[in-house]
Parts: sequence; structure tokens; C-alpha cells
Amino acid sequence: MIIIFGSKVRYKTLSTGQFYCPQCKARRDYELRQARNWFALYFIPVIPLNQIGELVTCLTCGTNFAKEVLSTPIPSNTPLDRFAREAQADLDSGTPIEMARQKLINTGLSRDLVDQVIAQAAGTDRKLCPADRLTYRSTVQRCAQCGAPLEPAPQ
Ligand SMILES: [Zn+2]
Ligand SMILES: [Zn+2]
Repeated sequence: MIIIFGSKVRYKTLSTGQFYCPQCKARRDYELRQARNWFALYFIPVIPLNQIGELVTCLTCGTNFAKEVLSTPIPSNTPLDRFAREAQADLDSGTPIEMARQKLINTGLSRDLVDQVIAQAAGTDRKLCPADRLTYRSTVQRCAQCGAPLEPAPQ
């Protein structure tokens, strides 16, 4: 009988949370994982051999970092946060979400980031103009386009 053995790296999730991802340059969700070498018998990991260390994985871009990355303070001034604050100010002053969105697209941000910024700035509570179907932040009372009173947008 031939015994096949080797070692294999296994990951165990220790915790999750938010951190500043140096790759995304933004606040992101992470997973803190512990990597271990396992003694594998017939390719089935059986014994944890030694801990090779802990690593932090950004759930957005998938990049792995050393655990120390968690001690980096999250800057409240990432470019995305700034876009979101500007967009929110626009939305609060009565700009339709569609226009704020277009404005962000015009700055050259990717659609993906525009969606994130809009979601952060507009929140989930939105209002709708029944006449032209423009949507607004929930704090806005009247449509900037036609002046009609806004209705709660269907979720
Ligand atoms: Zn990232
Ligand atoms: Zn309207």
C-alpha cells in the first residue's frame, strides 16, 4: 500500500469587518483568514502542521494583505467618499438621482463605482416624480424638472 502525503494550505476565517483597502483606495469589507499548512494524507487534510500566518482579504478586489493592513486608519476622505459627499449634497438640494448619476459618469468613474457612490449618497429610501419618473433622495419634496410633488418610490 502506498501512502500519499504532502502538505496543503488551508484557510480559516477568523473575523470580518471593514478596513481601508490600499488597492481599492476605499473602505471595504474584509475577511481575516488564518492560513495553515496541513499534513495531507491521500490529499485529505488531516493535521494542521503549523500556522503560516494570518492574512486579510479584500472582498471587493480579492487582494490579500498582511494583517498589519488593519491598523491603517480608514481615511474619511477617500476619493469615493468625497464623490459620495458631493453627490449627497447635490441630491439633498433637489437634484434627481439620474442627473447626479450622469454627472458622476461624466467624471470618468467606472459604472461600478458610480453605482456604489449613488447607493451610498442616495440611500435606499427614495422618492419618485409620478410625471417624469425621475427619482430623488427621500428629503426632497418636489420634482426639480416639473415641480410635481414627489411620491415614495416603490422599493
Ligand atoms: Zn480592495
Ligand atoms: Zn417631475
